[in-house]
Amino acid sequence: GKGLAVFTSGGDSQGMNAAVRAVVRMAIYLGCKVFFIKEGYQGMVDGGDNIEEANWSSVSSIIHKGGTVIGSARCMDFKERVGRLKAACNLVKRGITNLVVIGGDGSLTGANLFRQEWSSLLDELLQTSQINKAEREKYKQLNIVGMVGSIDNDFCGTDMTIGTDSALHRIMDAIDAIVSTAYSHQRTFIMEVMGRHCGYLALVTALAAEADFVFIPEWPPHQDWASKMCKKLLQERTAGQRLNIIIVSEGAIDRDGQPITAEMVKQVVVDNLKQDTRITVLGHVQRGGAPSAFDRVLGCRMGAEAVMALMEATPETEACVVSLDGNQAVRLPLMECVEKTKAVAKAMADKEWELAVQLRGRS
Ligand code: ADP
Repeated sequence: GKGLAVFTSGGDSQGMNAAVRAVVRMAIYLGCKVFFIKEGYQGMVDGGDNIEEANWSSVSSIIHKGGTVIGSARCMDFKERVGRLKAACNLVKRGITNLVVIGGDGSLTGANLFRQEWSSLLDELLQTSQINKAEREKYKQLNIVGMVGSIDNDFCGTDMTIGTDSALHRIMDAIDAIVSTAYSHQRTFIMEVMGRHCGYLALVTALAAEADFVFIPEWPPHQDWASKMCKKLLQERTAGQRLNIIIVSEGAIDRDGQPITAEMVKQVVVDNLKQDTRITVLGHVQRGGAPSAFDRVLGCRMGAEAVMALMEATPETEACVVSLDGNQAVRLPLMECVEKTKAVAKAMADKEWELAVQLRGRS
C-alpha cells in the first residue's frame, strides 16, 4: 500500500485528535501503510522513534481529548534546507510519499515549500548516496494535503477551523460564570479573548454574551471610542442593566494601528464612569478541555476528505487544503488560501479596514 503520514504542527487546538483518528482509519481502510509523525516537523527532521507506524487501535480513545496526542512543535530546523533534506530522507526510508499536515498557515506554507523542493531534495540525497536510484524513482512524487487546526478561525477559505467551536464553548462558560458575579455587584467586566490577527472569537463572543462593546483588529473603533463606549455603558446602566461586558480581542488596535489593551479600556471606564471594573484574561483556558461535538465531527470529516484527496492526487494536482464551505467538505488550492490569509494581515497593517473585512469573508 501507499505510505502516508499524518502530523500536527504549530499551535494545538481541540479536534486535532479527531482529525488524526479519521486520517489513520480512512487510510488503513483504503489499504495504505500509515505513520504518525510526532512533534510536528521536528519529528520529521529527527526521524527515529518520532515516525511510528499506526494501526486501527492506536487511535482509539483519543477523539474526546483536547490538544494533540501526537505532539506539536515549532521547528527552526525545517525552515532550513538542511533540515528539510533530513526530513526527506526519513520519509523515503519509510516509503512515505503522502503527507497530511494539520496546522496553521505557517505549517501549511512549510509543507508546500517541501513539496516544491522534493525533486531537488531527492537528487541531493541520491548524489550523496543516502538513497539509491530505485528509491529516487519510486518516491519521486510527494503529495500533500492540509487542514487547518486553529482556535482563532484565522484562515481564509474555510468557514470554521478545527478548534474554534470548542474555544467558543470555553469562553461562553467563563463569561456565564462571570456574569452571575458581575450582576450581584453591578460591575463592569472586561474580557480579553485570543485572536492575535483575527477578531472572530471576540466578535462571536460579544454577540452571544450580549456584550456592550467589542474591540477587534479588523475593524478598529471610531477615533472617539472612549466617549462613545462610556455613553453606551451609561445608557445601559440608566436603563436598569446591572452589569456591563466589554470584549477585547488580544489583537485589538485603534485606527492608527496602535494596540487597545484591556488595561486601557479599564482606565477609560474607571476615569470617566467610576464603575467597579475588572479584567479577566482567559488565556490558555480557551485552548484547553474537551473538544465540542462540532469540532470532533469537523475533524472526522476533514480527515477522511484529506485522505481521499491524497489518493486521487496526480503529478499535476496542486497541494490542497480541506475546508468547510457551507456544510460541505471541499478541497481548495493551498497556496491561494495562504496568500489570501496573508493579504488580510497586510490590509490590517496598511490600515485598509474595508479590504480586511472584505477579504476575511465568511470565516
Ligand atoms: P502555524 O502553523 O500555527 O501558523 P508557525 O507559523 O509557527 O505556526 O509554523 C509552524 C512550523 O511550520 C514552524 O515552526 C516551521 O517548522 C514550519 N514553517 C512555518 N513557516 C515555514 C516556512 N516558510 N518554511 C518552512 N517551514 C515553515
